[in-house]
This record gives sequence, C-alpha cells and structure tokens, in this order.
Amino acid sequence: MSFKSLGLSEALLRAISKKGYTTPSPIQAKAIPPVLEGKDVLASAQTGTGKTAGFTLPLLHLLSQGQTLRRRPVRALVLTPTRELAAQVYANVKEYSEFLDLRSAVIFGGVNQKPQIARLQQGVDVLIATPGRLLDLHGQGVLSLSKVEIFVLDEADRMLDMGFLRDIERVMKIMPERRQNLMFSATFSKDIRKLANGILKHPAQVEATPENSTVDAISQKVYRVAKGKKTDLAIKLISDGDWKQVLVFTRTKHGANKLCKKMVSAGITAAAIHGNKSQGARTKALAGFKNGSIRVLVATDIAARGLDIPLLPHVINFEIPNISEDYVHRIGRTGRAGASGEAVSLVSADETTYLRDIQKLVGMKIPMEIIEGFEPDPNASTEPIKQGQGRGKRQSKPKGSNSEKSSRNNRGAKSNNSRRPKRSGGRRSNDRRD
Ligand code: AMP
Repeated sequence: MSFKSLGLSEALLRAISKKGYTTPSPIQAKAIPPVLEGKDVLASAQTGTGKTAGFTLPLLHLLSQGQTLRRRPVRALVLTPTRELAAQVYANVKEYSEFLDLRSAVIFGGVNQKPQIARLQQGVDVLIATPGRLLDLHGQGVLSLSKVEIFVLDEADRMLDMGFLRDIERVMKIMPERRQNLMFSATFSKDIRKLANGILKHPAQVEATPENSTVDAISQKVYRVAKGKKTDLAIKLISDGDWKQVLVFTRTKHGANKLCKKMVSAGITAAAIHGNKSQGARTKALAGFKNGSIRVLVATDIAARGLDIPLLPHVINFEIPNISEDYVHRIGRTGRAGASGEAVSLVSADETTYLRDIQKLVGMKIPMEIIEGFEPDPNASTEPIKQGQGRGKRQSKPKGSNSEKSSRNNRGAKSNNSRRPKRSGGRRSNDRRD
C-alpha cells in the first residue's frame, strides 16, 4: 500500500515524501479512502497512530479539488480539546498543504485574540480550534462557519471528559447541515456513541487498533510500592536506567509540581505541564522536553492529551488513573511510529482496585515486580483514593480544587461516585476553558 494508491494528489504526495513517510499507517490506509469518497467517518484511533494525517490529507485533497472562493470562508473546521493538540494539528496541516493553495489558521484560548482575528480576516480555508475561543470569536462576529464543508471532531472522548459537550452542540448549530463529518476517538463509551449518532450520517467505521486495547509494541510493568516511596523509586528508575526522555503522569497539578521539584533536587532536569501553567510555560516545557534539555516532563492527563512527542521511550504512571481508559491514552505516548516503548506504573495499596479495572480493560495481567528497599506497605489500606482527597493538604480543599480529575467523569471509581461533583450546563469547573 502506498500513499499514491490511495488517490492523493501530487502536491500532497510531495509534502508526504518531504515529511519522510513512505507507507500509510493502518489508520491512514483505512480512513483516507472513505473520506475521499465524501463519506462521514467514525474512527477509533489514539494519538501516535498517525490519525492526524488520516483526516488531514484527504481533507486537504478534497478542499484543493473544490472551488477556492475569493473571500476564503472557513471550509473545514477541526475541533480539538486542548491547545497543544490544536497547535500540533495546525503544524501538520501547514506542512501537508505546503504545495497547495490553501490557507490555514489555529485559534485557542490563553493567548491574545488580536493576531487570531487578524488572521481570520485575511481569509482561512482550514481552521483548527478549541471550542471556547471558537465560540467566543463567533460571538464577537469575527468568524463565520456558515460555509463549512468538512467538520472534524478530534479526540472526541477527551472532549466529553473535559465537559465540552454543550460547546460541541453549539458549534454544530452554527455550521451548515449539509457537510461531511469525521470523528476520531481513542475509546468508545456509551456517551461517545450517542454523540457520534447525533453528528455522523451513515458513517464508515474504521479502527487502528482493537477498541480499548493497548499497543503491542509497549512493554508494560507494575511496581508494587509503598505510597511514601514512590518519588524515590521514580528517581531510582530514571537514574539507574539512564532514561533520557520520560513522561510522568500524576493525578493532580499539585502532585505534578511537587514531584517536579523533587526530581530537580535529585539532579534530574524536569518540568511540569498542567492546566494551571500559562500557555508560554507549557510551550517552553514541551519544547525543552522535545529537544532533550528537559529529561522528565511531569504531566496531568488533561495537559498531556494529544502531545505529539515522537519516539517517546518511557512513561511512568506515578499514580495509575482511576479512569481505566486513561491508562490506554497514557501508555499510547510510547511506542509510536513502530518504535518500542516502556510503560511502568507505580502502584500502592490504595490503587489496587484501579489496577484490577485496568487489567480487565486491556485484557491482560500486567507483569508485576517489587524492588528491594521499595516494598509495598503490608499494613496500608486497599480502600481506593477518593478523588480530590488523599493528597495531603488537599484533603481540606473544597471541590473544584487542584485535582483536574476531581472535576471529571468518575467512570472508573466505583467507591466514590457519591463524591462526583455535579455538572451544571455542559462544562465542568476545570481550568481548560479554551
Ligand atoms: P498522530 O497520531 O497523528 O499524532 O501521529 C503520530 C506521529 O506519527 C507523528 O509524529 C507523525 O508525524 C508520525 N506519522 C504519521 N503518519 C506517518 C507515516 N505514514 N509514517 C511515519 N510516521 C508517520
């Protein structure tokens, strides 16, 4: 299978070859043909599978075949949950459209809107946006979506997790009814299927890997450890293994900051990336991580979502997620583009239930190890951590506090559903109001 045989234009083939891609990834091979046929598509694919090119390439092909209108209204809209993902999709669109007469732009919150407005006023064919800023600019009358021909909802599952359902519904209302719709999601809950039914018409269904399964190339391991020894164990693993590029997941922003400080004290270059960090700080941390000047990036799930870090060799789950699907997302950061990766999870007694749920979801028992000097505490309770609690000082904080997940759908935590914060409207009280 070659990109040429998929029927993409010469201009796109040139851009693809400039990127160094020789063969389409499985999701590209499956998604590109139905998109080119003008069909709606529902795709099961996580970051790292090449999904961005899977929708971007055929989208650009279709737009370039159509008529370029003089005023250049937005003809394709890509909606993403996070700023980082929006920026990455935009970077890809720019690269792939290098030899085409198409203009693209990205808009997201947390930065000055003026340059974005100026760009929109010059005319844009492909717009990549996060929901908040998109609706904001539409409300100000500086943006119209009335000529959208293709709508892409990227990482739909994360969109719902972040409380963007209402915003998605609003965006749908300001686009023409007749359009092509593409929806990408790594996991498929009942809510996702409901959303898909509302957006897609007779979609072609494609998938890169079986639903909710983990990528084969990733070696997974669980270290049973006492809660209080996790930091030292993480430092030991990184130092002894001489790991150069490690993405560490923590449950809370507070936890991310604390761990980051400890890493730095231990002589390991580290930066934290989460919703309380400014866009500038996040961009800087990510750039440092990519260019190797920062060895460890400590992130919360929401902040890490969609980060494109090619060939990431190591992921540490400092705390395993209570939402099992997040485990699949997290370890999907490794082993991309065919490279092998390693995902280790530090599991204390109170995470036993979550681990069991994860193993059920991925359909395998993850190999377990105990390291001398870092044994689990035999007297620790196996009662699951309550969301927004179990974080030292955080215990006394009210809801909507520093835990990004405290405001998220608590699908995996059976024991604490009663603590789930009530959702008002579509958005939750998290900090990612892009
Ligand atoms: P994505 O899943 O879209 O975030 O892409 C993951 C990574 O794979 C990105 O770094 C892409 O540049 C890269 N990639 C996408 N398609 C291909 C391909 N056909 N061959 C090699 N690498 C690719």
